[in-house]
Amino acid sequence: MLKGRNAVVTGSTSGIGEGVARALAAQGANIMLNGFGDAAAIEKLRSELAAKHGVQVFYNPADLSKAEECEALIRDAETKLGSIDILVNNAGVQFVAPIDEFPVDRWNQIIAINLSSTFHTIRAALPGMKKRGWGRLINTASTHGLVASANKVAYVAAKHGIVGITKTVALETAKSGITCNAICPGWVLTPLVQKQIDDRAAREGVAVEVAKGELLAEKQPSGRFTTTDDIGGLAVFLCSGAAQNITGAMIPVDGGWTAQ
Ligand code: NAD
Repeated sequence: MLKGRNAVVTGSTSGIGEGVARALAAQGANIMLNGFGDAAAIEKLRSELAAKHGVQVFYNPADLSKAEECEALIRDAETKLGSIDILVNNAGVQFVAPIDEFPVDRWNQIIAINLSSTFHTIRAALPGMKKRGWGRLINTASTHGLVASANKVAYVAAKHGIVGITKTVALETAKSGITCNAICPGWVLTPLVQKQIDDRAAREGVAVEVAKGELLAEKQPSGRFTTTDDIGGLAVFLCSGAAQNITGAMIPVDGGWTAQ
């Protein structure tokens, strides 16, 4: 379905971004991977996706906490892929503490990576999409773009900001063949969430499996984690013809979390 399309997926060396990159490649899209991690593991992912799906897959290690590296990632992708049709802004980090104990450098880091990088990459990639009259901008927000949880002030502020960027860009591109949407996952079992489970288990002196159950019971009525494949499938749908008039939407994938 996406044969000949070119996609950039930020934060795709792990978790949700990797799931989205896998799903887009499986539909025939060429991919620019980005994110941190073990060089050999990243090369294994890159070569595996390319060989399995017969697509071109590149990797750029841009640190998206820096504006100039966000722009350089987009330029590199345009050079290597020829154009960018799909941009998935997904890189993100978490830090948990009450606001009066929240380190200023952590606030700045989360706002830079989880919020500002999306401004910088869309700003750089949009002119090419406008020229070609087709584009799909997909931002990984969160349930925390729609509701708050205690002790996540920077994350919640950044994700609410992603919702604001998504709506604004959707309006600015409404007549151009470009859509801009936000995916709002609840709990997805990735390294980012595993750390919160491990911290909770240590804090409460309970087994990791117990902490996992508590985490789900607290927020996610389905009692199940969303999978990275689920999010990949939604990203593919947003790139399909059936989604051509879905724009400015916040799509929860949260087992009922935000229905409460
Ligand atoms: P993850 O830790 O598995 O992956 C994060 C990715 O971002 C990795 O590839 C990492 O290398 C990359 N990254 C981190 N800092 C970066 C930087 N400065 N520059 C470039 N890349 C950087 O986490 P995940 O759970 O897959 O999270 C992905 C996105 O999904 C994040 O935006 C997160 O907020 C969001 N999200 C996650 C959940 C969840 O339950 N896991 C729920 C809602 C939203």
